[in-house]
Amino acid sequence: MSTDIDYYELLEVERTADEKVLKTAYRRLAMQYHPDRNPGDSEAEARFKAINEAYDCLKDPQKRAAYDRFGHAAFQQGGSGGYGGGPGADFGDLGDIFETIFGSSFGGGARQRPRRGADLRYDLQVTLEEAFHGKDTEIEVEVSVSCEPCDGTGAEPGTGRRTCNLCGGRGKVRAQQGLFVIERPCPTCHGSGQVIESPCKHCRGEGRTDRLQRLEVAVPPGVDNGTRIRLSGRGEAGPNGAPPGDLYIFVHVARHPVFEREGTTLFTRMPISFTTAALGGCVSIPGLDGENHSIDIPAGIQSGKQLRKRGAGMPVLQGRGRGDLVVEVQVETPTRLSVRQKELLREFQETETGEECPESAGFFDRLKNAWNDLTE
Ligand SMILES: [Zn+2]
Ligand SMILES: [Zn+2]
Repeated sequence: MSTDIDYYELLEVERTADEKVLKTAYRRLAMQYHPDRNPGDSEAEARFKAINEAYDCLKDPQKRAAYDRFGHAAFQQGGSGGYGGGPGADFGDLGDIFETIFGSSFGGGARQRPRRGADLRYDLQVTLEEAFHGKDTEIEVEVSVSCEPCDGTGAEPGTGRRTCNLCGGRGKVRAQQGLFVIERPCPTCHGSGQVIESPCKHCRGEGRTDRLQRLEVAVPPGVDNGTRIRLSGRGEAGPNGAPPGDLYIFVHVARHPVFEREGTTLFTRMPISFTTAALGGCVSIPGLDGENHSIDIPAGIQSGKQLRKRGAGMPVLQGRGRGDLVVEVQVETPTRLSVRQKELLREFQETETGEECPESAGFFDRLKNAWNDLTE
């Protein structure tokens, strides 16, 4: 320790001066008091040494923080190697000072790492046709992005950060509670160890601003309710320039008037005429793929019977092939019969023996038996 003049006064700078200002001041003064320029001037030489000492300290954020808090005292025992604070150490609290400031955090390793930005959720509704074919779409999301004027630093352009005075750059403060010393995150700098000299006006020091972003989203074929599409790095900007989070697109598939869906299976109910049901036939169903799928109706089919067409369902998400199309048959009773049709049906009725409809026959048999059981 060769000087007890205040380092900031020596360098003729404000206490809030940033690195650039310090450096400029140092260069100017070093030039002025350099021994080569002042031969034989011992005062200039002493001044030159003191300026170097001051700059060596203040250019290092950790040392500067210690100096801001404790002044020259922070360095007076520094070179002796005795600041471990063993029993009988005669500099009292200084042992703690050194442990606090130059302890584990001196290498810079213990400082909190900036957290990444938050993940965002966006709900995207698609039709079943879009879920079938896939879709390239554009969405608009309001996300907080890194502030442009300050480049995400939160500091007004041209100004910098300085070491937090309260915690001396450690990001933590210590407080005595009874017998114990507890550590907690510094309330001033929130654990970062640095504070902004003058906050950016655009983002009020947050380093982030909200902006409407247009993003392209490729919805793959086969998406279903609950499918999530991740857009990496499209979430919120991280605080103080930390990496952004991700954007998750939650897919919702709208209800379709004709088809229901379960996984890769497409399901629909199809009315068929009672004559087709009785005689059998073939119907064709226009699928989501734009093709007509013909389905064979076996003669004598009943309402509620399900017919399956393999490979005519939904595509497998990020896979190969397709699920099935399941058609549930509903036999429709005709309601608008012509006179001639009624005539024909009456004629048919007269030829009925009961054997044509085994279900009905069975039902009436069961009913008769139950009645007999009751009356016996
Ligand atoms: Zn800003
Ligand atoms: Zn702090």
